[in-house]
Amino acid sequence: MASGSSQSSLQFIKGVGPARNAALRKAGIETVEDLLYYFPRGYIDRRTTIPAKDLRRAVSAGQPVTVIGKIVRQEARRSKRSNRVIFFLTLEDATGHVTCVWFEGVNYYRKMFETGEMLAVSAVPTLDKLGRPQFVHPEFDRLRGGEEEDEPDWNAMVNTGGMIPKYSSGSDLAQAGLDSRGFRRIIRSALQSHASVIQEVLPKEVRMHQKLVDLPAAIRSIHFPGNPSELHEAQRRLKFDELFFLELMMALRKRHRKDAMEGIAFRIESPLARRLADSLPFDLTAAQKRVIREITSDMARPEPMNRLLQGDVGSGKTIVALMAMLVAADNGYQAAFMAPTEILADQHYRTLASFLQGIPVNIRLLIGGQRKKLREDVLEDARSGRAQIIVGTHALLEESVEFANLGMVVIDEQHRFGVMQRALLRQKGANPDVLVMTATPIPRTLAMTIHGDLDVSVIDQMPAYRKPIKTAVRLEHQKDKVYEFVRTEIKAGRQAYIVFPLIEESEKLDLKAATKEFDQLKNVFPEFRLGLLHGRMKTEEKDDIMARFKNRELDILVATTVIEVGIDVPNASVMIIENAERFGLSQLHQLRGRVGRGADQSYCVLIANYDWFHRNRRVAEGDVEREKQQAQVRLETMVKTNDGFRIAEVDLKLRGPGEFLGTRQSGLPEFRIADLVEDGEILRAARNEAFAIVETDPELRMEENKTLRAHIKQRYKSIWELGDTG
Ligand code: ADP
Ligand code: MG
Repeated sequence: MASGSSQSSLQFIKGVGPARNAALRKAGIETVEDLLYYFPRGYIDRRTTIPAKDLRRAVSAGQPVTVIGKIVRQEARRSKRSNRVIFFLTLEDATGHVTCVWFEGVNYYRKMFETGEMLAVSAVPTLDKLGRPQFVHPEFDRLRGGEEEDEPDWNAMVNTGGMIPKYSSGSDLAQAGLDSRGFRRIIRSALQSHASVIQEVLPKEVRMHQKLVDLPAAIRSIHFPGNPSELHEAQRRLKFDELFFLELMMALRKRHRKDAMEGIAFRIESPLARRLADSLPFDLTAAQKRVIREITSDMARPEPMNRLLQGDVGSGKTIVALMAMLVAADNGYQAAFMAPTEILADQHYRTLASFLQGIPVNIRLLIGGQRKKLREDVLEDARSGRAQIIVGTHALLEESVEFANLGMVVIDEQHRFGVMQRALLRQKGANPDVLVMTATPIPRTLAMTIHGDLDVSVIDQMPAYRKPIKTAVRLEHQKDKVYEFVRTEIKAGRQAYIVFPLIEESEKLDLKAATKEFDQLKNVFPEFRLGLLHGRMKTEEKDDIMARFKNRELDILVATTVIEVGIDVPNASVMIIENAERFGLSQLHQLRGRVGRGADQSYCVLIANYDWFHRNRRVAEGDVEREKQQAQVRLETMVKTNDGFRIAEVDLKLRGPGEFLGTRQSGLPEFRIADLVEDGEILRAARNEAFAIVETDPELRMEENKTLRAHIKQRYKSIWELGDTG
């Protein structure tokens, strides 16, 4: 966002000399604009700031509060009991005293403060041994050091409703005097002398419509809000900006693609699809019918379709995709169906072929491990147009694969394929329609941001006969009972999965752990046939084990997490997940989705070993309780619901968007202020406005949109360029 113009150079800000300038640059703050967009990480708020005399009352409330006072005493003392050095700091305000205590980092803190200095300290107050209120390891913020004249009277603030911004800082910045207080000073002076670098960017229409405060006012208030509602409006405005420009990029990209490409307008009357529908042993669900309508009406249009089909595991996406492929076939076009692994490609091929029994459609499979002769044959069928549906892995993307007239592309499990691969496959035809299927439910807000340029269809209903999977949590010491239950189910003719987590320390260790676990389970179940599946096996070995499990040659499949998404063994009715506390929520849900695919009642048992968090070196001591609690929430959520979208929402809340999606593949922008979990409503409003603008002015040439165009080109340069490849 560096504009580099000299009047926005930081050197001109009062209080910024060469040293601070350098420290700021290092932190990525190069211009006045950057500085003004360096938003506070929080505020010291009148509502939670209390006089010291009221602390005792706050102890029982158990909520964090802030006290503002002057340092009157500091002391590092060795505790007789623990023989540790403890640091005490006592503050005084007009009404009394409060003592702050640090058990850790004592050497750091004892050099930190000066007696006489004003501090704001925040924490949940507790009582010390003598029953006096204290703050243990509080957050603190330095206030007036005495030298500045222009800062407010902090004591008075408690009564006037002012809010003090708190800024994050790092050691380099702090050393240059830019701790939270330092930032407050230079940002205040930047706002006084350089407020004009902030110019309104949103069209007046949009601002009026959304009742947004103007940008200069929002920037001022985000730093120095007069009161909570002013702050709220500033935040809403700035969040809106971030989301609006993201959605504007999406709208432009989508529009651009549609305009630039002429696709195929399919006739959607399809005798083949009708025959399939008539031959199905079940009725399509209302949700399946609806998404088939959405897909075929896209197909009928001349622009290329780019649609995401979301549906929980078992919701019946395959048949929907097949309907679309048959429409293509009836129009004389080929369809390609791409799966992420060979096992899945093979399984899809078989499923599709069995649906197509008695229907004259030529379907072929193309995967890496095929014999040369067979492969040549498949390639020839693809090239000549004889093959109407070709199922495969990314082998389909290879150069040697040519299609006579590819009109429809279906991609399963889109998370594993990038935008580039989608584009590659698209190029194998003349702008074929693309349908991307995913069983990883993504909450709507996220879907709108990462797939904002795709149209989205959702199958939000399960086939009626399917019974919800019964899920329970058991503790480690109850394992024997769980195994007993597995035994009963297998004796009743079913099969079971037993899954355990990767150790992740080294491949060798993993292999050892997997083998050890397997041997133990063989001892537990001597009367049954067990197979082991783990990540270190070759593809053929894995395929072989899976095939034997499918054919009921194995009763129990012991596996690390490699059991693929989408593997379908209807007779398997029990899923046992060991050390379930270590799995992420979406992962648990995916694993559970391996059962419940047949007509039998299925079960999922989550075996929890919460002690693990105490033993795991990677979990910091202070985080153990929080980690445990989160694990409990995950497992309870699994017990409470089978609904993948509900689960995804909880997961997103627990982990945040970056981790939820895996930052690498998410392509998500870093937001400064917007929060995809909290700001769904603002996102929807921003999206509507952005898409409406692009609808009427696709190139942003109209007078009222000129600023937008300029702003995008300057600030979102990289995304702007991406618009040509997506
Ligand atoms: P997904 O790919 O969404 O996980 P599938 O397409 O594999 O789900 O469908 C799961 C199972 O449900 C398959 O055996 C499929 O034949 C069956 N199925 C699909 N739609 C229906 C329906 N409407 N009624 C009953 N069974 C269905
Ligand atoms: Mg499927």
